[in-house]
Amino acid sequence: MTRSSPIRAGLLVLLLLAPIGAWAQQTHYERQADVAPTEEVIGEDYVTPEVQRPRPVGATRQLVDVGLLALALGLGAWLALWRRRRAWLVALTAACVAYFGFYREGCVCPIGSIQNVATALVDPAYAVPYYVIAVFALPLLAALFFGRVFCSGVCPLGAIQELMLLRPVTVPARVDRALSWLRWVYLALAIYFAVLPAAARDFVICRFDPFVGLFRFTGQAWLLIVGGVFLVSGIFVGRPYCRWLCPYGALLSAFSRYAWRSFSITPDRELDCGLCEKGCPYGAIENKRAVRTACFACGRCYRTCPVHRAAEDGERRAA
Ligand code: SF4
Ligand code: SF4
Repeated sequence: MTRSSPIRAGLLVLLLLAPIGAWAQQTHYERQADVAPTEEVIGEDYVTPEVQRPRPVGATRQLVDVGLLALALGLGAWLALWRRRRAWLVALTAACVAYFGFYREGCVCPIGSIQNVATALVDPAYAVPYYVIAVFALPLLAALFFGRVFCSGVCPLGAIQELMLLRPVTVPARVDRALSWLRWVYLALAIYFAVLPAAARDFVICRFDPFVGLFRFTGQAWLLIVGGVFLVSGIFVGRPYCRWLCPYGALLSAFSRYAWRSFSITPDRELDCGLCEKGCPYGAIENKRAVRTACFACGRCYRTCPVHRAAEDGERRAA
């Protein structure tokens, strides 16, 4: 038994127990659409505001979303850890941006669900839907088993940044490390605002999400600009939001520290020459080994490995 096994088991128990409090607070609620006042009843030229995006979805769709999330996590783990093919990971990344990002309009997302779970744990009057709990817990559970496979290409926020990174520049390790503390500050602030009494409560992660407006083609102008700045700067600087701001990324890196198995660079499967260290745009390789807390399991480093390139060329020729 490794030293991390008891910690992994502890985190697993915590992950399974924590949502139970929230789960216990389920109440059946159905909007009484037939008694809602109409524009005629209200009068005074009242116009019903447009339904907020995203529109509420039914139980079947929620079940489908949770199933697809689990499937994508499994696929990401298989492609990154076993198949070791960047090309297929890019295809998964593009598919997840299309579905979880543009089609499902970035909602419900595990990053925002931190707040729902935090609120439900302190407020007995707040009920959080089952599928939000599932969406919160699944990527963390996957991180305990396979590392940050959610970040490899499943999370639409990370995926869109991953696709934008075309000309990576190296960020000095010290700057990278210092900025990465911001994720924890943001996480603490988000939980603080989520557990305030109902009248003062605020879900800041959702309110200031820089990408969700881009997925929905709507939103406050300044936030759309911030999202655009993240994307444009992300052409050169690898995933700035993921590395320095994402509060869920902070949780994932903590869980992935105790992963049963995670993305690896090994002398028996790779050349072990150190080329990959230069090929990782996220500074996630140290001493020729992937740092499990920082590695997004994106597979970019495999592209720089002569062994993998030769294998891919061979597969292409055979096809
Ligand atoms: S770090 Fe956050 S935004 Fe980036 S891929 Fe992971 S969960 Fe998504
Ligand atoms: S080590 Fe770097 S390039 Fe390789 S999978 Fe991890 S984040 Fe991607």
